Amino acid sequence: MGERIGISPAAVYAEGLVGGRLRYQRCTRCGHAVFFPRVVCPHCGDARLEWEDSAGSGWSTRRRPPAVVPVTTTSP
Ligand SMILES: [Zn+2]
Repeated sequence: MGERIGISPAAVYAEGLVGGRLRYQRCTRCGHAVFFPRVVCPHCGDARLEWEDSAGSGWSTRRRPPAVVPVTTTSP
């Protein structure tokens, strides 16, 4: 009994907020910022997420436009 369960991502996040820090996760595999806290990366499914502290105001959300490249076939 008394199996120790790891601290959930949400708990780490909440803990950071209490300390006045806004934390988010970054996937070590694909490099995406992950927010809200998760166990696995929603982008690539990898579980190796690292915590990062945002600078507070104006934390960078690098939003990229969707990678939809129109396929243009060069007609003969
Ligand atoms: Zn990822």
